[in-house]
Amino acid sequence: MAIATINPATGEVLKIFEPFSDAALETSLELAQQTFEKYRHTSFTERSQWLQAAAQVLLDRKQEFGELMTLEMGKTLKSAIAEVEKCALVCRYYAENAAQLLADVPIATDASQSFVRYQPLGVVLAVMPWNFPFWQVFRFAAPALMAGNVGLLKHASNVPQSALAIAEVFALAGFPAGAFQTLLIGADRVAPLLADARIKAATLTGSEPAGASLAAAAGKQIKKVVLELGGSDPFIVLPSADLEAAATTAVTARMLNNGQSCIAAKRFILVGEIADAFQAKLLEKFQALKVGDPRLPDTDVGPLATSGILQDLAQQVEAAIQQGAKVLTGGKPLGGVGNFYPPTLLIDIDPQKPIAQEEFFGPVAMVFRVDTLEAAIALANATPFGLGASAWTTDAAEQTCLIHELEAGSVFINGMVKSDPRLPFGGIKHSGFGRELSREGILEFVNIKTVWVK
Ligand code: NAP
Repeated sequence: MAIATINPATGEVLKIFEPFSDAALETSLELAQQTFEKYRHTSFTERSQWLQAAAQVLLDRKQEFGELMTLEMGKTLKSAIAEVEKCALVCRYYAENAAQLLADVPIATDASQSFVRYQPLGVVLAVMPWNFPFWQVFRFAAPALMAGNVGLLKHASNVPQSALAIAEVFALAGFPAGAFQTLLIGADRVAPLLADARIKAATLTGSEPAGASLAAAAGKQIKKVVLELGGSDPFIVLPSADLEAAATTAVTARMLNNGQSCIAAKRFILVGEIADAFQAKLLEKFQALKVGDPRLPDTDVGPLATSGILQDLAQQVEAAIQQGAKVLTGGKPLGGVGNFYPPTLLIDIDPQKPIAQEEFFGPVAMVFRVDTLEAAIALANATPFGLGASAWTTDAAEQTCLIHELEAGSVFINGMVKSDPRLPFGGIKHSGFGRELSREGILEFVNIKTVWVK
């Protein structure tokens, strides 16, 4: 895949980048390693000042960075600006909390003194996706840099200008040159790179095949990895739910980022007598959404990020129809210029069919109906994924059961699944392993050193 900016709303090729030569890659790696040797001795106070400055650069230039993301991958400008603000938030969270999160932890034993100390690992490689071009990177970089690691970013090939802008943010903020660098390289160069002894660990956010490939390469080298992969999150609505609130949130949860979010609600599981009423609300709200130019403030759904994603989604919907699904609205690309696909509602899907197991990475919702809470949980769990789950009920016993039984990295009751710097984020099963954000996130890339003194 060429490293290039192609406007998804128009198909126009705006800028093509030459990948790094082997020599340029070696220069970056060596700089990263040499920087780490000094950077690991910087204090939390210094790192915190740099990260606070990064937050300020983000806020000062949120319009510009938002426009860049919209240009490269088609998210609405209002959501792109909100994404930049959220990046500032995660910088501030770790700038303010890392020292305390990584403070020595005394533990009483037979020693005169025993405790746990957290130390950086070294150069960490981050392989990131295009869907939240800034957020995915900052939620890795903020804790990693505060812990004393240095970062190398291999971003998705369709967001090179965002990748370069992120490195610029850290440089402008005052981090030492080499603390965070962007590498313009294709996916085929990740495994060989991981074999380099200077790289100590890696994180990948993206698809299952990419995650499996990175994990295999890291396994051979016995290197730590964190994987944040796909999802097909359930959104369960039970009879006691506030249907209007649930339906409004359902639309937001499915359409977020033009439908291209790992934690988007993708399978709507309606329990009992509310099914007709909820489905009607969903249909009405889907049909009211405005698809179009992502730069305009009243646009709800912009183009998909690439023409390949548009084709894949169209084929998935065709496959669903062939496997018995009925289309209530949408169901075909809009045609013409740009990668536009309309909000689409699929019903009557047989949960046993292969399509029910797949992740739809676009504005397509699958609706299922069941009779009981137990059937809803069984259906929710019947996929290879386990990222997030949202369930709507005011019944305390049902809430307890859902929290306990749903196979997911997070369960949100009466709300949509979302990330928050204060809460751990990640999945189980084929959605990956490891956690980002909060205390758990900063502990992923540290040596948890046990100290015992007689
Ligand atoms: P992708 O194709 O896996 O790309 C993600 C990144 O991995 C890109 O930088 C890509 O580089 C690289 N890559 C691809 N194949 C690779 C390989 N064999 N070895 C090493 N690196 C490789 O994913 P995507 O289609 O862009 O993103 C969509 C997927 O990501 C969805 O499944 C979504 O659910 C998931 N996702 C998960 C989370 C989460 O937090 N759990 C968040 C966002 C997205 P190139 O661009 O150069 O190919």
